[in-house]
Amino acid sequence: MYGRFKTHLQNELKQIRQAGLFKEERIITSPQGAEITLDSGKKVLNFCANNYLGLSNHPSLVEAAGEALRSHGFGMSSVRFICGTQNLHKTLEKKIADFFEMEDTLLYAACFDANGGLFEPLLTQEDAIISDALNHASIIDGVRLCKAQRYRYRNTDMEDLEEQLRKAQDQRFRLIVTDGVFSMDGNVAPIDKIYELAEKYDALLMIDESHSAGVVGKTGRGVTELFNLRGKADIITGTLGKAFGGAIGGFTTGKREIIEMLRQRSRPYLFSNSLLPAVVGAGIRMFDMMSETTELQDKLHQNTAYFMTKMLGAGFDIKPTQSAICAVMLYDAKLSQEFAARLLDEGIYVIGFYYPVVPQEEARIRVQLSAAHETSHLDRCIAGFKKVGRDLGVIG
Ligand SMILES: *Cc1c(COP(=O)(O)O)cnc(C)c1O
Repeated sequence: MYGRFKTHLQNELKQIRQAGLFKEERIITSPQGAEITLDSGKKVLNFCANNYLGLSNHPSLVEAAGEALRSHGFGMSSVRFICGTQNLHKTLEKKIADFFEMEDTLLYAACFDANGGLFEPLLTQEDAIISDALNHASIIDGVRLCKAQRYRYRNTDMEDLEEQLRKAQDQRFRLIVTDGVFSMDGNVAPIDKIYELAEKYDALLMIDESHSAGVVGKTGRGVTELFNLRGKADIITGTLGKAFGGAIGGFTTGKREIIEMLRQRSRPYLFSNSLLPAVVGAGIRMFDMMSETTELQDKLHQNTAYFMTKMLGAGFDIKPTQSAICAVMLYDAKLSQEFAARLLDEGIYVIGFYYPVVPQEEARIRVQLSAAHETSHLDRCIAGFKKVGRDLGVIG
């Protein structure tokens, strides 16, 4: 039986390779951090992790994970509502709710699950979901699993959002859905204007803070802090897999009844295993750290400003950003790949993105800054960009 299917897959894989879209994994032999070791033994500076606050290998979180491992064991062997809820899970849920000024929180194995299990329990075909065109894949999948009418607006285009809201006025309920920060450009959703439109057209508001929580806003509370609207969204989803320690785990936080309904009906919550205690224990420590000091956010914001200033000064074209994502525009797919390869030779690990991940003719290198970076790391990265940029004729 496998023979014909095998040939079919081989052909498909060949096409993916020929299109230049085949994904290879690069093997790292060290913990995640500003400097990592590749399996070739080469040490490189890492500018492509979502390790925004430098917490992925933070001693305090490693210690907290170890403590929870010893006090609460390794695995839960259960979903939450059978016998998979420990006091640790409840504590972390409360801390996340407080962090975002929300009423209650539900943990998931990942934000992919939080988004996958969000819409179907809450909305029916009588309702409308109005979604930014560049929202994350997990939102797109979650919306697909729900029977609500779907409306899409162009990325952060408020005229288009208003138009879609008008079209959706006959529906029973309307839910506007947006990423807080969009991962390819690093641009922020205009939550102030979205909130105004939500009020005007009687819509609920959901924000996915995966790339913005911990990063955006003076104290890292995300886009609702940036726009002075803390506690105003109805639903926030996010991940523990990026700024918040980088391990695994997702959450939905929001209005009490919404979270209560998700506890009854959200399928990835009901039918998938409970988060391991070590991750939950480290998460609790992490949110405690966040409430004690903004040192890491401050350093990240300084690093981003420093990098942007020097790179713009060197003549690079970078998309306006309010996050820790800097899209260095090259506008040519092949150039983006060669540029990234040459930077790796210089000891700088970044990734070039091109169509279909970004629009045609918008190839780029995405640089992600971290509080783990020291100024010397940033200087080496900038020097690498300048050298390769001059060699490849990108800058003068
Ligand atoms: C990374 C990301 C996710 C997925 O988070 P996981 O916890 O890794 O599943 C969801 N939404 C957005 C906007 C993201 O950037």
